[in-house]
Amino acid sequence: MTNERASLGFTRASPVDIEPDLQRVASWGRLSNEPHSVVPLLDRTRLQLPLRGPDDRGLAHGNGRSYGDACLNAGRTLWRTRGLDRFIAFDATNGILECEAGVLLKDIIEVVLPHGWFLPVTPGTQFVTLGGAIASDVHGKNHHAGGTFGDHVESLLLHRTDGTSITCGPVAQREWFQATVAGLGLTGVIVQARLKLKKVPGPWLHSEALPFHSLDEFFSLSAQSERSWEYSVAWIDCVGARGRGVFFRGNHGQHHEATPRTRSRAMPFTPPVSLVNRWSLRAFNAIYFRAHELAKGHKAVHYASFFYPLDHVLNWNRIYGRKGFYQYQCVVPRLVEQAATHELLAAIADSGMGSFLAVLKTFGERVGAGLLSFPMAGTTLALDFANQDERTARLFDRLNSIVLAAGGRIYPAKDACMTRELFERGYPRLAEFMPFRDPRISSGMSRRLLGS
Ligand SMILES: Cc1cc2nc3c(=O)[nH]c(=O)nc-3n(C[C@H](O)[C@H](O)[C@H](O)COP(=O)(O)OP(=O)(O)OC[C@H]3O[C@@H](n4cnc5c(N)ncnc54)[C@H](O)[C@@H]3O)c2cc1C
Repeated sequence: MTNERASLGFTRASPVDIEPDLQRVASWGRLSNEPHSVVPLLDRTRLQLPLRGPDDRGLAHGNGRSYGDACLNAGRTLWRTRGLDRFIAFDATNGILECEAGVLLKDIIEVVLPHGWFLPVTPGTQFVTLGGAIASDVHGKNHHAGGTFGDHVESLLLHRTDGTSITCGPVAQREWFQATVAGLGLTGVIVQARLKLKKVPGPWLHSEALPFHSLDEFFSLSAQSERSWEYSVAWIDCVGARGRGVFFRGNHGQHHEATPRTRSRAMPFTPPVSLVNRWSLRAFNAIYFRAHELAKGHKAVHYASFFYPLDHVLNWNRIYGRKGFYQYQCVVPRLVEQAATHELLAAIADSGMGSFLAVLKTFGERVGAGLLSFPMAGTTLALDFANQDERTARLFDRLNSIVLAAGGRIYPAKDACMTRELFERGYPRLAEFMPFRDPRISSGMSRRLLGS
């Protein structure tokens, strides 16, 4: 066990004036809003990566959907990539798409789906850029069948701060590719990429919801579903009856119905304190579980509801109040997944913290495309926690020690406070990655976990 403390290292900037050329930027967890020098990147054909002087360091910033400090670089430069938003080529016969790195996954789907193609892997939000999806090597509900996002990237173009550019892929310049996929923006700026899409019959999925009452049941449903269901994931009740949840599985399928217009709603304000607490959670979870017990079974679901239910509530991250929130996502290896998941859930239940958004999923055997890819064969648990300072730090210390003892790892795209020891032990290929770092790039996370 480690003595190193999970330090909740974020500070909220005081509301004093900041230099006019600086902008406050927060990530999805809204734990900090520090000033950055924000430079939009607009034209990939004349791309410069400007810095403010010899001591400055820059970082690519996609759509800020990382929860912690992977996409932040307080006091330094952020190269905002959303302006790199052009589609370059689309081969609708073979499902090969080439576009700039600032294009959102949502826009990709809207272009390719009418031609019978879909993303081969998608995270739980479509408001993520192509570059951000590669730099975190994101996973979805189909890891057991489709691996990670990087497995489907045929090539990418990387710009470095020394003015050089590198085209790399799983074969050509392979070592650069392996460092940049899941490289958290630290090897350079991904400017464009070529992606192999997945053939689908349309926008619908056949899905099934199965309430379960114990973790053993979850593991057996997972094992049974892997062969015949492409997508699977479970919601788990982290405060109520231990081990109860709802298992969701789905496959792309045909369905003849008009596509519904999904109306998005927005969280209209940020409450001073979190609306998620022990009591609201207990009540909400009980209702949610009961509703799925009553409505269990098969149905046809639109892809937006199946993959992106959270996207229907814009700014839902405000619900945790002004102090923001953490997401804790870990994976524990197959051999110990059952015991370690029990232990993690028991620690969370004891703490009385946690949130409605608690997700459990088994990963397949595929080795990640990047040196620092997160998934490993085993079980991943992801939960949001309102920021309660010391209380949250104590819980994370406990969770970290369980993950460390199990030989697991934490997901950097969600992280804001893992210890260096956990990072180094969880990512044994870190030493291979280091020579590919761009010396004039840093992030809040790289300074915290790598010292620069
Ligand atoms: C509601 C929600 C659900 C999510 N579900 C999942 C999930 O199911 N699975 C999963 O894996 N993740 C999930 N995530 C996390 C999210 O997919 C990742 O954090 C993703 O990297 C965010 O992309 P972004 O474009 O917002 O990039 P940012 O958050 O802005 O940046 C993320 C990282 O990518 C780097 N980066 C961004 N663009 C470039 C570029 N052009 N070149 C080089 N580096 C770049 C940044 O430097 C940073 O290190 C979820 C996030 C949210 C908010």
